[in-house]
Amino acid sequence: MAKKALITGLTGQDGSYLAELLLTQGYQVYGMVRRSSSSSFERISHFSDRIEVIPGDLLDQFSLIDAIEQTQPDEIYNLAAQSYVPLSWTQPSLTAEYTALGVSRLLEAIRRCKPSTRFYQASSSEVFGQPDESPQTERTAFRPRNPYGVAKAYAHWMTINYRQKYDLYACCGITYTHESPRRGAEFVFRKITRGAVQIKLGLATELRLGNLEARRDWCHAEDVVAAMWLMLQQDAPDDYIIASGETHSVRELVDCSFSYLGLDYQKYVSVDPEFYRPDEEVQLVGAIDKIRADLNWRPKYSFQQLVESMVDYDFKVLSEL
Ligand code: NAP
Repeated sequence: MAKKALITGLTGQDGSYLAELLLTQGYQVYGMVRRSSSSSFERISHFSDRIEVIPGDLLDQFSLIDAIEQTQPDEIYNLAAQSYVPLSWTQPSLTAEYTALGVSRLLEAIRRCKPSTRFYQASSSEVFGQPDESPQTERTAFRPRNPYGVAKAYAHWMTINYRQKYDLYACCGITYTHESPRRGAEFVFRKITRGAVQIKLGLATELRLGNLEARRDWCHAEDVVAAMWLMLQQDAPDDYIIASGETHSVRELVDCSFSYLGLDYQKYVSVDPEFYRPDEEVQLVGAIDKIRADLNWRPKYSFQQLVESMVDYDFKVLSEL
């Protein structure tokens, strides 16, 4: 019989890629979606007829219980969250409700309705905040520096506590920044690839950015969801860093995007103090030795392939406008 998986955050970047991966693995896929006055199905419209959408909201305990009772999933992937760090400063309470307490509600629902379910929690490198070591490992201390990171740290430790107290198969993937053609427009990677394409097509004349020397550990979302799935196929639950293990600067990202389009970025890109953030004292970069050794996982996309996939996508979309 086909395995059943329930994904929260189906309509988001990762949820859409994970659903596609699970469909190719022969799963029956259920996606939990919250009520909205307008459709948020753009990322899943090409396969929405092959999955079942279940109404539910991380704010509502009974909807989570209903979703689990109705679907009886073998695996649950909790990808839903208020996932935008800057918004967590303007809406800290709501961020805590979704991103922290939402996970408590989900764990409680699993414990009561189907404790044999395997559970994946989307943790974030933001739990490390200003870390005391680089690269970070699964044992690096958490020092979150924004309400989003604090909420993710709570969710991370609740997941581990439920594993220890109730013997749930529950684990956390600590993912670093990951991107794709389905990434939201508010994130800097997308701002750069789209901005370069707009200039190429004559739709814009300049791109204003913050600190070009800032460095990040970037992965492709397709690689990240493959790691999530592998984590739930092991004999015993465990927590893993999911990252590329290397950093690239915003300048490299800009250069790569513009060069791919045959443009010299120096003619178009300016540094705007409004967006400027000082360099991190310690780099956020993940050590991927454990996930490599235990799960034989490593990213398939190089940094350049990731950039080019997004530039290609933006070019196709913007040139059809
Ligand atoms: P995303 O694109 O922002 O998607 C978030 C999803 O959560 C959307 O489907 C959203 O639904 C849903 N959601 C938000 N609040 C909800 C609620 N109260 N109840 C039910 N669903 C709700 O995020 P992503 O990039 O796919 O990231 C997936 C997970 O990984 C998130 O937990 C994120 O915090 C974490 N993470 C992401 C990154 C990254 O670089 N992408 C890095 C580290 C960790 P709507 O469509 O209705 O808004």
